[in-house]
Amino acid sequence: QVKGNGRNNFSFYESKMNDEVNRKVAINIRLHRALKEKTLEMYYQPLIDLNTQKIIGAEALMRWTDSELGFVPPDEFIAIAEKNNLIEQLGSFALNTAAEQAAQWQVITPLQIAVNFSSVQFRDCEKLLTEIQQVLLKTGLPANKLDVEVTESLLINQEGELFDMLKSLRNMGVELSIDDFGTGYSALSYLQKFSFTKLKIDRAFIMNLTKNKADQSLVTAIIAMAKALNLKVVAEGIEEDEQKQFLIDIDCEYGQGYLFSPPVTAKKFEALLHQQANSNSAFT
Ligand code: C2E
Ligand code: MG
Ligand code: MG
Ligand code: MG
Repeated sequence: QVKGNGRNNFSFYESKMNDEVNRKVAINIRLHRALKEKTLEMYYQPLIDLNTQKIIGAEALMRWTDSELGFVPPDEFIAIAEKNNLIEQLGSFALNTAAEQAAQWQVITPLQIAVNFSSVQFRDCEKLLTEIQQVLLKTGLPANKLDVEVTESLLINQEGELFDMLKSLRNMGVELSIDDFGTGYSALSYLQKFSFTKLKIDRAFIMNLTKNKADQSLVTAIIAMAKALNLKVVAEGIEEDEQKQFLIDIDCEYGQGYLFSPPVTAKKFEALLHQQANSNSAFT
């Protein structure tokens, strides 16, 4: 969009700002359409037991390729959906699709399905709790095979109602994960208070694990703390064998990352499950 040399800095930044606003507006409009036309998709990334290398679960991740905008990353469109009253519908789609899929996969192998929830979806705790109950009922997915992933941002400035809702989920048997651990700001005491079952160490700490001593200390400490609190630990974003080995050596039980598999379509994920059932390993 750069025109002749007559442009000054002001108009350059102004037009850049316009581009950003226009893109947000376009995403909002196209996302409404995508919901109507059912062009959103769920992909699934294997969750691995690091010691056995077996798939023990999947994280459901939303994918959207628009005919005009092309591929739009979820970080970008989720944020826009949160501001435009679309997140409840996106969240319902993710939960229903993933639970239905996971219920079918139980026949191949028992596995847990992790679904991401936006903090905005918890504005009406009662409604969300009812929806989760109904989806479990409808799909027949056992409650302990559903893992609700939330981020620390949910816990800021929230008290009674949220506490009760998360407690109800736990009482039903649903598992609760804290996602992107280490990137938020809340006090660690929430880990106890809210009865989480799992902690997912953010990719940012895994990325330089083999080179950065500070990250090694942090990750080692997080794992020790998690164990002391009876929390399962998942390392996100494992890309290299050396990272995996380091994590095994410090007793990290679970992992996720491109080293094993990127998020894939339901069909491809199912093929991995069959491969594992037939040959004992999904990755050889
Ligand atoms: P997240 O929940 O922390 O998901 C993990 C992200 O890390 C995913 O990005 C995944 O594709 C990526 N990832 C996994 N392994 C590796 C690796 O080895 N290397 C690298 N570089 N990346 C890896 P994705 O799919 O782009 O999703 C980004 C974020 O968007 C998610 O972060 C989550 O916060 C949000 N999101 C995705 N789907 C949904 C959804 O259905 N509902 C909600 N509320 N949020 C979603
Ligand atoms: Mg997640
Ligand atoms: Mg994460
Ligand atoms: Mg994230």
